[in-house]
Amino acid sequence: MGAKPRAWVNRGLVVLAIAVGVELILRLATIPAAEKIAILVTAAAMGGVVAFREIPAFDPFGRVHWRLPRRPERACAITFDDGPSASTRRVVEILARHHVKATFFVLAANARRHPEVLRLLVAQGHTVAVHGVTHKKVHRDTQASVERELSTAIAELSALGAPPARLYRPPHGLKSAATLAAARKLGCQLWAWSRGIWDTDGPDPEVLVKRATRFASSRMVLLLHDGRGDEEHPDIEPMLSALPRMLDRLSADGFTFLTLDRA
Ligand SMILES: [Zn+2]
Repeated sequence: MGAKPRAWVNRGLVVLAIAVGVELILRLATIPAAEKIAILVTAAAMGGVVAFREIPAFDPFGRVHWRLPRRPERACAITFDDGPSASTRRVVEILARHHVKATFFVLAANARRHPEVLRLLVAQGHTVAVHGVTHKKVHRDTQASVERELSTAIAELSALGAPPARLYRPPHGLKSAATLAAARKLGCQLWAWSRGIWDTDGPDPEVLVKRATRFASSRMVLLLHDGRGDEEHPDIEPMLSALPRMLDRLSADGFTFLTLDRA
């Protein structure tokens, strides 16, 4: 699911951090050098830890994937979270009409409700990847707990006929060192995204088209949703209405579409 309010909170925190930083620098002029360094190192470390936990694509060590490799040029990836839902069939129809293959980060609990839709994704050549069993956040969980969530999701999806690609996007993109360690242990790459358009907030479809295409650039990993968290009957009409125009515009701009396991 999207997280528009959190995005604004994050922006507010960045502004606050800059203001505090400027204030600190002004005050630091009167403090001995060793203490200055200690304060700055502590502040940078604390800022780094918060940014790592709260900003899905941010990882100073580059372990989180969030955009495509440099080659081929003019490539992008369309990704869907929170499905499958009853409406996923319509997503598949639109993708087929546009000859686009996409990556679906599915929830095993939703796949249990729609096993035939899950298998349709595989039959149509799309990539099934892992979003979890449910949409519960995992960034405060222990490594063992995340491993359990991830291995259960992989086993359930496999039993339903769709062994997933070893790509994991935790709910809301929120992660921790334990999340990364669990993913690594199960051979999964951790994936965020480079463009989210808050399609589950129900905005006007034309707004969604603009958000997805206006600043589209090579390597873009676009986040869309064919479900809404754990909801049994999600409303994804705005995205469904916008999707054909998004794909038309990106194609007209020369983009090709890759799935994340083939990028
Ligand atoms: Zn999600």
